[in-house]
Amino acid sequence: MNVHDIVIKGARENNLKNVNVRIPKRKITIFTGVSGSGKSSLVFDTISVEAQRQLNETFSAFIRNRLPRFSQPVADLIENLSTAVVIDQKRLGGNSRSTVGTITDIYAMLRLLFSRIGKPFVGNSHVFSFNDPAGMCPECSGVGQVVQFDVEKLLDRSKSLNEGAILFPAFKVGGWLWNTYAHSGLFDNDKRLADYTPEEWDILLHGKESKIVYNTKGGAIESDYEGLLPKFTRLYLKRDSSEMSEAKRESIDRFLSYSECSMCKGSRLNQEALGCRINGYNIAQCAAMEIGELIRMIEAIQDPVAGPMIDGILTRLNHLVSIGLEYLSLDRQTSTLSGGESQRIKMVRHLSSSLTDMIYIFDEPSVGLHPRDVHRLNGMLRQLRDKGNTVLVVEHDREVMEIADYIIDVGPHAGIRGGEIVYEGDFAGLLRADTLTGRYLKQSLPLKTSTRVPKGRMTVAGASLHNLKDVTVDIPVGVLTVVTGVAGSGKSTLINGAFLASHPEAVVIDQSAVGTSIRSIPATYTGIMDEIRRLFAAANKVSASLFSFNSKGACANCHGLGMIYTDLAFLEPIRTTCEVCAGRRFSDEVLAYKLNGKSISDVLAMTVREASEFFSKKELLRQLQTLEDVGLGYVTLGQPLSTLSGGECQRIKLAEELHKEGSLYVMDEPTTGLHMSDISRLMDIINRLVDGGNTVVVIEHNLDVIRSADWIIDVGPEGGHRGGQIVFEGTPAQLATAEHSITGTYLRKAEA
Ligand code: ADP
Ligand code: ADP
Ligand code: ZN
Ligand code: ZN
Repeated sequence: MNVHDIVIKGARENNLKNVNVRIPKRKITIFTGVSGSGKSSLVFDTISVEAQRQLNETFSAFIRNRLPRFSQPVADLIENLSTAVVIDQKRLGGNSRSTVGTITDIYAMLRLLFSRIGKPFVGNSHVFSFNDPAGMCPECSGVGQVVQFDVEKLLDRSKSLNEGAILFPAFKVGGWLWNTYAHSGLFDNDKRLADYTPEEWDILLHGKESKIVYNTKGGAIESDYEGLLPKFTRLYLKRDSSEMSEAKRESIDRFLSYSECSMCKGSRLNQEALGCRINGYNIAQCAAMEIGELIRMIEAIQDPVAGPMIDGILTRLNHLVSIGLEYLSLDRQTSTLSGGESQRIKMVRHLSSSLTDMIYIFDEPSVGLHPRDVHRLNGMLRQLRDKGNTVLVVEHDREVMEIADYIIDVGPHAGIRGGEIVYEGDFAGLLRADTLTGRYLKQSLPLKTSTRVPKGRMTVAGASLHNLKDVTVDIPVGVLTVVTGVAGSGKSTLINGAFLASHPEAVVIDQSAVGTSIRSIPATYTGIMDEIRRLFAAANKVSASLFSFNSKGACANCHGLGMIYTDLAFLEPIRTTCEVCAGRRFSDEVLAYKLNGKSISDVLAMTVREASEFFSKKELLRQLQTLEDVGLGYVTLGQPLSTLSGGECQRIKLAEELHKEGSLYVMDEPTTGLHMSDISRLMDIINRLVDGGNTVVVIEHNLDVIRSADWIIDVGPEGGHRGGQIVFEGTPAQLATAEHSITGTYLRKAEA
């Protein structure tokens, strides 16, 4: 055996049961197993954390004190690690100045190219930077948009000031800000705004008068008058929005309108930069092209001096193509990219790196990829390995598993019933193994032959958002519709953009984080905490409020969080267990109260499944069952929601929504994070929704989900401007014989 394998002995993070494992270096190793079995505990919480910690140890104390402190993972031995890079699905986010071009450095290279060979010659590449005063459009400061308060959203003209004509919450009638207008003596407070003279209207919105006397209850105050728009702009737009809470930003956003900057037409650059061209194109036009087009434009440049620069740009652009992102443009804002797209962009940065002997860790990189494009991802993973790196991948996709040099199957089940290695070896061996993964790899769900009859149709008519080409399509009511197509073909644009715009009543179940408070846990989110508190109160004849960790019963040191959070400016806050309550969240007095021998803290430490055995109250059991049904039986009632993955967040929302009487549900890739064995359970839930009279629309690439649809809408044929059309509408059986559909081709292949 290779002495340089990564060696792990006695790993016990979370649910891991003394795991011993050797992982070959400079190979691709895939970790699979049902959700909750312990893959992340092994790969992220053990390997990645230890690699990071060991790296930090190599720095001087001065630097170390400025880095996040990683506590040592629970394990007896972890050996032969090297520097680890985690490439996950966290969205790139970023402000409006962050684009695909800036984050991949390709835009910087393009700027250099323009400064050297553009006509007229400019000389300095800063001139092409919209983040630099030398290059930014003076009107919009390089944002490409102008943001304004929208008077129509801000004011209700049918009302007077006294009736609350100013709709912005901070200006409510009688409040301090309202007084500065109503008591200025400038307006008739009972006059409807619609009846204002042009002068009054102008004063209200833009007025600037000095020394106004306000007559308030407390007496007269002399001050300057400021019209609504300058005041709003000063108070809410000019302020650094990063200082505001998300809720506040959202509440302000409702009153804003965004429009393209009229000076630069959205290109963000000033006229000097826009005047410089190569072969007739300026840099903004290049950044707006789809990557494929841009490659052709750059390839056509004949200039011996710029040869190496051009090669560098082409290499990176081709990396983007090779992972299926050729439909993006460099000017696309990173905040609009999906999780899968973000992950693939991060990958590009590392492909261009010449570092070797790194450990690259991927979390389900196949997310968002059509079966047609998975081989491209595989190519990238191989490329990283062949440069001398160790590639670790958490993945459920069969095609990816097939290229693994080594597979580690974690199981046998989830939570306390998991945490063991149930198989290690190659793919062929896994097919013969008697594990959940081995068994499911050998079977697939049958093609659905639907007996469901649509009860009507909802029509999307003439949609042309993004790449959609005047699309008109019917979505059948009362059945399960699956929307398919290669990445970038326009599925999300069609459903989340065009369709939802006219169906705001839909229940959208996405993968964004749940619970905005760090206090949120499954028990509070689902509401079962209230019932649990009542049971504790009744059993001990005390007040139910004692058992809330927002009350005086909470540990005084951590205020009921069980953790101490240390904020770090640009990094995730560090969590350390509270030393006073040892993570139990409550005061000793409260912990002394028991229900059938368990304290409130013991109950919060139970998994959903354990809680189902502990409680007998019907309503509680029903709610626990829904969590179990969506495949979350392994989470504990007290696990902070902030530690859940995107897929888990989506399933906990699904569990919640199952109680509601929605009629239209929309889900984007609900199989994310799900093992094959979990998918049939997800299908049971979706079918239950449909059988209950609801309409369900799902965007998916998973072939088992596609096979289970009543109706399929295939968008394509390709990504970007070569997509945006409806390629196929019909049943799964019809799709399997549809000649021109790429999805159909893959369905046929899998059936063979
Ligand atoms: P997988 O990656 O296979 O889906 P995980 O390693 O995330 O599984 O989870 C394994 C078990 O550990 C689960 O029961 C999960 O609820 C638990 N777990 C994971 N992270 C935490 C955490 N931060 N706190 C408490 N329990 C956790
Ligand atoms: P899919 O969901 O099939 O992967 P999308 O609907 O995300 O495809 O994308 C379809 C096309 O629309 C692509 O060319 C994509 O780059 C473009 N697009 C998607 N979202 C935006 C956006 N917010 N701004 C600009 N272009 C977008
Ligand atoms: Zn501008
Ligand atoms: Zn505490």
